Amino acid sequence: MKTSISYPTEGAMGKTGTWRVFRPVVNAEKCIKCYRCWIFCPDCAIEIDDFPVIDYDYCKGCGICSNECPVKAISMEREGK
Ligand code: SF4
Ligand code: SF4
Repeated sequence: MKTSISYPTEGAMGKTGTWRVFRPVVNAEKCIKCYRCWIFCPDCAIEIDDFPVIDYDYCKGCGICSNECPVKAISMEREGK
């Protein structure tokens, strides 16, 4: 299943992924495919291709997806590590 209700687009400030300090990383072994992360991402930077796939070109690293995940399958890791 590949689906999205909206897509991020490049704005006047370019691709918003460059704003990120922490990046969300999905642990597929923990993920139960509830798709709450996809529903809650304010930037529509998550696509569902069976598992959630983060679009790092547009993900701002807000951490909402990690916060909303019921099984803590998304960790926020510092960029550049
Ligand atoms: S919220 Fe967590 S468990 Fe649900 S689809 Fe996203 S990563 Fe998987
Ligand atoms: S960190 Fe924020 S912008 Fe990035 S995928 Fe998660 S909810 Fe979306």
